[in-house]
Amino acid sequence: MSPQSVDAMERVRQRYAAASSLTDTLTALLEEVADTTPFERSVAAAGFDRHLVGAGVGVAGEEIAAFARAMARNSSQSVADGRGMEGHEESPLTALGSFRSPVLVPAVTPSEDFVAVVAVEAQPHHPALAKVREALRIGTPFIFRSAELHALRARVAGLDSQRRRTDRALDALPDPVLVMDADSRILLSNRRAGELLITSPGDSRGRRHAVETNNLFFSAFRARALLEVDQVVGPRELLLVDPADGSDLLFEVFPLPFHDPESLAESYIFVLRDITDLKVAARELEVQVSRSVAAEHRMRRESQRLNVIIENAGIPILVTDRATNVLLMNREAERLLEASQPDSRHSLRVHDIRENDAKLAGFISEFLLHSRLRREGHLTLVDPDEAREFPALAVSTKILDERGEPTAMVTILHDLTQEVENRHLAQELQSLNTELEARVVAATAELAQRNAQLMRQRSELERASRMKSEFLATMSHELRTPINAVLGYNSLLREGLFGKLSEKQDDALLRMRRAAEHLLSLINDILDLSRVEAGKVQLTPVEIEWKPFLDTLSETVRPMAALKSLEYAVELDPRVPKISADETRLRQVLLNLLSNAVKFTDRGSVRLQAKPSDDRWVRLEVVDTGIGIEPQNLDVIFEEFTQVDQSATREHGGTGLGLAISRRLIGVMGGKLGVISTPGSGSTFWVDLPVASPTSEADGR
Ligand code: ADP
Repeated sequence: MSPQSVDAMERVRQRYAAASSLTDTLTALLEEVADTTPFERSVAAAGFDRHLVGAGVGVAGEEIAAFARAMARNSSQSVADGRGMEGHEESPLTALGSFRSPVLVPAVTPSEDFVAVVAVEAQPHHPALAKVREALRIGTPFIFRSAELHALRARVAGLDSQRRRTDRALDALPDPVLVMDADSRILLSNRRAGELLITSPGDSRGRRHAVETNNLFFSAFRARALLEVDQVVGPRELLLVDPADGSDLLFEVFPLPFHDPESLAESYIFVLRDITDLKVAARELEVQVSRSVAAEHRMRRESQRLNVIIENAGIPILVTDRATNVLLMNREAERLLEASQPDSRHSLRVHDIRENDAKLAGFISEFLLHSRLRREGHLTLVDPDEAREFPALAVSTKILDERGEPTAMVTILHDLTQEVENRHLAQELQSLNTELEARVVAATAELAQRNAQLMRQRSELERASRMKSEFLATMSHELRTPINAVLGYNSLLREGLFGKLSEKQDDALLRMRRAAEHLLSLINDILDLSRVEAGKVQLTPVEIEWKPFLDTLSETVRPMAALKSLEYAVELDPRVPKISADETRLRQVLLNLLSNAVKFTDRGSVRLQAKPSDDRWVRLEVVDTGIGIEPQNLDVIFEEFTQVDQSATREHGGTGLGLAISRRLIGVMGGKLGVISTPGSGSTFWVDLPVASPTSEADGR
């Protein structure tokens, strides 16, 4: 190499070293050309990977740019081959319109991606072109580096802006997106992911805490996700906390493995889709669905129940649509309104059914014209089975759709036959009642009248009875005296005081005596009875010693019993307390009962018993085994002048007053007298006497 060229090299190197950009490097090249050649105007373009840059000396900026652009469209190879120059419209030389004759000097390039070229305004084959070539040859490594650097810078700038765009796009996403390396380092995250997972120095404690929690959750999730990555495909759910307000956020996470050529390890892109609202909506939807399913169930049940009710209502029910077509009806309605197949033969029946149908259809379609929701009307329908007309009450109700339009009508038919009958009956009853009331009023008045009359009669009767008793009491006394005289004279006669009597005379006198005696006893009884009735009986109570009292009584009775060969016994219970009573009257009563017993007993026994009934009563009983008394006579025998059996009475004699007097006397003593009897077996006459006499009770002792 000549010293000149060594100098040139050095100068060129210095020039290039000073250049900080590809334009500067090219300018340095062109300055070298200008210094070493006579060409005044020159243009250079160079670039790497089509990032072409131009520079020029003595050339306008636009022309330089056009040249560089044209160069970029042609590969350096094609330029070097001269293909781009031959008639090619887009030949870079055509871009140099101000050059009279441009000559292109391409560089021999070290790389396919590299282009470097110089164009000078020169005559072709000018010897100085060799210098241009030389300068280019020396400059090519510098230009190559510069172009490479330029391209790299351009690419970096492009990448930067692309990255910024990507970041902006990612940040614009509402979903968190992040890239993590195998060591869980966040390589990249968008704004939303940063909000959730990354803290910065100025953050509040609350936020830091929330973010830490989120990181914890996320790491756990990530560890699990990466473990299961082979088995589970697709997204999984992750719960995080919103650091802004502490609310729960639910995410669906899509882990996406990708191979990071830099770290040579498996990294993951995580896209988190916020499904909080979705989940809430889904849950709401679920609730809605289950509600509507439940509602449907209810509806179905309701409708089943309704069907059951309609079927079992027992009265005709039918549902019709707007055109009065029947949608539904129960058996009772069918019976009235639908002719069955075999009916067609019985034209009368079909006629009845059609008439019913027409009447009801008329009623319902009239109802449709009204705005009212319910209508009641009276119809006369025919029972097709019985061919009988009956009054009916039709009640129709509209069923409205959601717009308030009637969609169906429910009609219920009530048979009013019974009601009409009832109404008639009620009317009849009413008039009967009124009549009855009038009758009752009349009867009541009559009754009141009769009552008053009876009261009057009663008091008259009472007066008469009193007068009768008083009369009898007086008269009996007056009667006894002459009878006693008759008896007296009878005795004198029979004793022969007035001469001897023939047998016949004596017999007549005996009969006379018996009659007189009977009359006397009758009068005595009547006197007694009337005394009692007039309340004139004087009681003289003494303390009764039972043993001597009963013994004395038996002395009278025993011979009477013996006469009829009857057994006679007295049974005295030692517990019988002493009582205070009128001894004479009590004896009279018991004697009457005992003589009756003997009188009406032909076989067996007569017993007198005394025993305590309870603390307050002493019971005396006369028990016989005689003829007994028929139940219907048990009360009658206590009435005055009553004898049950006429023949027996004849046989046994008596006045029929004994029991009447006895019961009255015992009543005056404060006791009771009664009988129990079995016809054919015997009778038991009983007397209950109070232990404390009525007087002593009155004394309060
Ligand atoms: P009489 O003086 O006729 O006996 P009573 O008043 O004593 O009148 O009795 C009335 C009637 O009661 C009697 O005629 C008799 O028919 C009936 N009678 C009374 N005691 C008995 C008895 N122990 N057994 C059956 N009948 C009796």
